Amino acid sequence: LPTRADLVAYQQGVAGHDGTLCDVDGELFIKPCTPAEVAFYESSLATHQDFAEFMPTFLGTLTLDEQQNGQTIEEVGAALIAKHTIPDVLGATKSSKKIVTDQAVVLENAAHGFVKPNILDVKLGVRLWADDAHQDKKTRFDKVTEETTHKDLGFRIAGMRVWQGAKAVGKDIDADGYKIYDKNYGRFDLHNGNVHEAFKNFIFAESAGVDEELGKLVAQAFHADVCRIQEVLEGQESVMFSSSLLFVFEGDGVALRSAMEEASRSPATLQNDDGDVSSEEDEDEDTSPKIYSVKVIDFAHAKWTPGMGPDENSLVGVRSVANILKDLGSV
Ligand code: ADP
Ligand code: MN
Repeated sequence: LPTRADLVAYQQGVAGHDGTLCDVDGELFIKPCTPAEVAFYESSLATHQDFAEFMPTFLGTLTLDEQQNGQTIEEVGAALIAKHTIPDVLGATKSSKKIVTDQAVVLENAAHGFVKPNILDVKLGVRLWADDAHQDKKTRFDKVTEETTHKDLGFRIAGMRVWQGAKAVGKDIDADGYKIYDKNYGRFDLHNGNVHEAFKNFIFAESAGVDEELGKLVAQAFHADVCRIQEVLEGQESVMFSSSLLFVFEGDGVALRSAMEEASRSPATLQNDDGDVSSEEDEDEDTSPKIYSVKVIDFAHAKWTPGMGPDENSLVGVRSVANILKDLGSV
């Protein structure tokens, strides 16, 4: 196995707890999590393939075994073990708000393979807490719902990063040229009347070369995937409190345009990277440039609920987001 020294803190997170990690190649996303989240990944793969298609690829779990001062690896594929670094101390980085757990999920990094990944986390739900939450958490989260777009639209912008071009400088723009919208943006700056502007700011970045034409295509692609997610959720019985839609697309306009052109020449036109692309080149790793990806993430409070009907609480948000994307794709 590779050593701890090869493992790094994940730098591209836009929301959520600290303490996430990735391998040097950036292919893996490793998140300390609860047993409930692992269980939901496993049961989704076993019994809900159509939904699992929209989850990040689940590669396994890591368990920190303090007695042995190392980790035991469970259910991580042989290829993965051969190829990737496993942390010997999960969440070793200093953090003020880390999940207290010795377990982590190993997922595909949804932002891997993009030249300049633009990333948006949309938290879903009107009600944000699960039945087993303590009263103080219920009260706190109800206040968030009351004060944000959760209340009427069933979602809020949890965080995003948008590339502004190589030379961009300015407020909230980091050294790599990404404008960072932190948790306060969706919490305090946005409301029902202007939340569509967040999606505009995410998708259209003229200074990065993502012009009207390209942005519309991205919005249309996102819209198609969100509609599919809506359809799948409407056809299954589950609850997911505070899960998110994770949107990623190529934020470098030049790279985006050429990736789209390449896709339009090949049979897998504008296909989500999870689409089943079978061709003569199947043997090779898929090296076609990435265009976009839409995933559902964060299943700390998700479970299957046979007999209880679809997750209308999350669906309010999914439908709202679909409507906004539809508008942006057709303007
Ligand atoms: P938390 O329980 O801390 O909210 P999340 O699962 O929501 O954990 O993840 C937190 C952040 O990490 C997300 O906002 C996103 O930026 C990033 N993230 C989560 N899963 C992935 C993934 N599979 N690939 C890339 N980034 C991810
Ligand atoms: Mn989250």
